[in-house]
Order: sequence, then C-alpha cells, then structure tokens
Amino acid sequence: MLMDHDFNVEDIEKSVKQTLDYCQENFGVYTFDYVRIAEVPAHWPFGGFAHPGVISMVEDRLYLSDVSNEETFNVVSKRVIHEVAHQWWGHTLSAKPVAGGSLFVEGFAKYTEAVILDKMYGKRDLYTLSENARSRYFRGRAFEGYIESPVYKVESQGYIAYGKALTVMLALRDLIGENQVNTVLRTITDRHRSVNKMDANSIELLEEIYKRTPTEQHILVDDWFKRVITYDLGIEESSYTELANGTYEITAKVKASRFETLDSGETKQISIDEPIKIGVFTTHPSAVKDDSSILYYSSNQFNTEMTEIKIIVKEKPRYISIDPFGTRSDENLVDNLMKM
Ligand SMILES: [Zn+2]
Repeated sequence: MLMDHDFNVEDIEKSVKQTLDYCQENFGVYTFDYVRIAEVPAHWPFGGFAHPGVISMVEDRLYLSDVSNEETFNVVSKRVIHEVAHQWWGHTLSAKPVAGGSLFVEGFAKYTEAVILDKMYGKRDLYTLSENARSRYFRGRAFEGYIESPVYKVESQGYIAYGKALTVMLALRDLIGENQVNTVLRTITDRHRSVNKMDANSIELLEEIYKRTPTEQHILVDDWFKRVITYDLGIEESSYTELANGTYEITAKVKASRFETLDSGETKQISIDEPIKIGVFTTHPSAVKDDSSILYYSSNQFNTEMTEIKIIVKEKPRYISIDPFGTRSDENLVDNLMKM
C-alpha cells in the first residue's frame, strides 16, 4: 500500500473487523486465520474480487475514495463489507451453478452489507443502500429481453442478484427478524461447510425460511421469492394535532397496492394483505443515525388500496414515510415520504 493512501485505512480496518465479528457470530467460523486486503492498480479490469482469505480491491475505488465527510454514505465501508462477506457467501457456502445460485453469492453479500452498515452508521446508510438496490432493479428490468426471473431462480441478472435480492432479504428480516434470517443462513452454511462441492440451492433455502416463518406468512415468502410482484406505496395525506397531554396525534392516508408481472409480460393489479413499516421522524430518513430521530417505526397491516391510520408520538413529527428503509420493490419513491 502506498503511503499517501493511508487516509482510509482506519475505515477499512474497522469495516473488516466488524464484518468478521458479525459473520463469525452469525454464520459460523471463518475458514482462514487471516484476511489480506490487496490493493491492485486502477487499470485492472474489475472493481473488487474476493479470493479465499484475500480481498483484492482496485486502488481508486478503495483507498482513494474520500469518505472524510461523515455525513455522506460510506462507500469504502460498503465495498469492504461486501468483499469480506464473500468469504462466507461464495467461499464457505457455495451455491449450485443453477438458477437461484447468485442469490447465495451476491444477494447474501448485499444483505450482509445492509445489516452491518445499519449497525455501524445507522439507518441512513440502509436508506441509501436500499434505494440504490431498488433503482438498479427497476433500471435492469426495463431492459430485460426475456421473461423476468423471480429471485429464487435468478441466474446472472445483476439487477436481481444485487437489486431485488436485497429488497426481499430486507422484507424477510422485517417479517421474521434478523436472528431468524441469520439462523436460516447459518443452517445452510453449516450443512454445506465441509462439503467440497457447490450444492446449496434455493429450494433448500426456502424450506429453511418456511420452518422459521409462521404458516400464514408462507404465502408472503412465496410472493417475494417466487413471483414477480411490484408495489405502489405512498403517503397520500397527513396531518397532526397536539393533544392536551402534549403528545401529537397523526392522521395519514396511506396508499398500498401490488402488481404482478406474468410470464406473458402482462402486468395486473393483485390484492394486498401484508405488514409494512410506517416511520415517523424528526429528520429526513436519509439522515437518521440513531433512534433519537425516530418517533415511530412499526409494521401496519395493509389490506386495501387506501388505509387511514392514526399514530400518537411524543414529539412534533416532521416526516412520515411508508417503507422508509426499502423492503418492497416500489419504483416511485417520491410519494413514500411526506414532510409534515
Ligand atoms: Zn459481490
């Protein structure tokens, strides 16, 4: 490493350590007793590539990125977490090179990025990461020349592996909790850990998810992983009044509808009946660092296209949002947030 590249070393070391700690605790032991990060010249034709025990990253994308402004999304951490996570997703656990395989490699690496960035920098990083994943998905599917695959059958389509796969993993995390999601991933990793061939598959993954999801929610798991469904979510109206005891009562009209893309390419509206998070904040959700700016963040059940909700919060609300941290594939995010 060249001397003048030192200014990101602290971020890199912190991210490597956090990722190794989190992954070992949740997904089992690390196969190697070292991680080396190798800086390779900018003219090499790839961005980052993880070999067993060694992570190579192109110099100008890693050491030369300026992340000294802490208010900006930490791109260096994101890349390091992603590449370290590949020591589990792709090296410790290898998927069958069949439909669904890249969910295990890129989808799980994106999921690991999200949970660790959430812990290191707060929900603002989750906001940016999930927004990027959704726009990548919608850009990619617009140019899809074939029938779009559901997540469990993703092949080499980057817009699904890096895009929608993250969205559905975050939805699953909301539905059953991070511990349960991680137990699913760990169970599969442990089963295949000592097997020296690529044989994990997405049917097996779904079976483990069903075991840890209430039966009545299996249909939602299928909707997210096995069908091509998009959402149109939005806050249509909102207002609040101060109550006598000093709290604030918010009334909001929330739009929630779903559309399925069929094998024919045709899209039709379908029914909705699922829990989706509503958030009320004192700051824009893209700036949420910790719980102090979150007044309310809970799942509400939506089963009609338009629902009126009432929420009581302790401080004056400034923003209300549906699905603020990106767990549903919704193309138009502008109406998901309303300034109050
Ligand atoms: Zn990757």
